[in-house]
Amino acid sequence: DELISQIAAGEVVERPASVVRELVDNALDAGASQITVRLLAGGVRLISVEDDGSGILPDELPIALKRHATSKIGSLADLESVGTMGFRGEALAAINSIADCAILSRASGQNHAYLLEGQTGELKPVARAVGTTVEVKELFFSTPARRKFLKTDATELAHCVEAVRRHALARPDVGFAIWHEGKLVEQWRRCGAPDSLPALEQRLADVLGSDFVEQSVWVDYASSAQADYAPRIKVWGRAGVPDAARSRADQQFCYVNGRFVRDKVVTHAARSAYEDVLHGHRQPVYALYITMDPTRVDVNVHPTKIEVRFRDSRDVHQAVRRAVDSALAAPRA
Ligand code: ADP
Ligand code: MG
Repeated sequence: DELISQIAAGEVVERPASVVRELVDNALDAGASQITVRLLAGGVRLISVEDDGSGILPDELPIALKRHATSKIGSLADLESVGTMGFRGEALAAINSIADCAILSRASGQNHAYLLEGQTGELKPVARAVGTTVEVKELFFSTPARRKFLKTDATELAHCVEAVRRHALARPDVGFAIWHEGKLVEQWRRCGAPDSLPALEQRLADVLGSDFVEQSVWVDYASSAQADYAPRIKVWGRAGVPDAARSRADQQFCYVNGRFVRDKVVTHAARSAYEDVLHGHRQPVYALYITMDPTRVDVNVHPTKIEVRFRDSRDVHQAVRRAVDSALAAPRA
């Protein structure tokens, strides 16, 4: 089982940022409103993710580190319409097989927090407010070959920050802080209710810069509900027209049902809407939030869940194309 976990780890954990992403996913699934990430040496020495979510009951702590231990999926039907970020129940087990893990958690309604050491399996009571802290030390300590593939601390840190940034753009209702070597690197304060427009605008300004908000337009589109076979697809967010100097390839953020994804269909649709606006090699800047019937999108394509498969990819393409088209055609607002 340890070996299987290590193989799974190879697919899930490429670098510290992969761990950060999984731990922040878990914190969000637990309903956290504040998430603090602490790193040492770009995350290689230590990744600690602290949340104020619902916590883990003491008898469920050891189970959390076991493979296919997920509290989130009860049936195959649930897998069809995954509402949580995690569902495979293998991230913590995988991470625990390639690093020195500890979980500190206090479940709501419990008087104590408990600390579980992944290496020894030892469980002891400690003091902590309701919520969870997961600590991952010495990533890849047992697989030096993989550790060698890591880049400099600064590069690994940048990837970790990027992982949190992707979450932050999806969740303006949650506060995020990132510390590296005891210094505050980024802080994005909670902006308001999950689906509030002002909150999203504030978060976009905080994360992508106020110039992004100034140089972008709202996207707000819903495909018309026609028949059963063509479910409604909504696309909202902001699309920016960057000047040449700010153009960067990594400023495209796309979310499907709250999950950050990289998808050819969406990228192509957005790109084609931009064709007449962007000349030369400039890259569009956008944050697009697509919501659709969860049974029409498969998120269980890859362990990292960054790829999705749409059942109606032509409809998705058309919705994104039209959404961005009409936003860019409208006067600046
Ligand atoms: P998954 O997220 O796919 O369910 P993980 O391996 O990431 O699997 O986590 C295993 C289980 O541990 C989760 O299903 C959840 O019950 C528990 N867990 C992990 N992290 C947290 C957290 N920060 N707060 C509450 N529960 C957590
Ligand atoms: Mg998870």
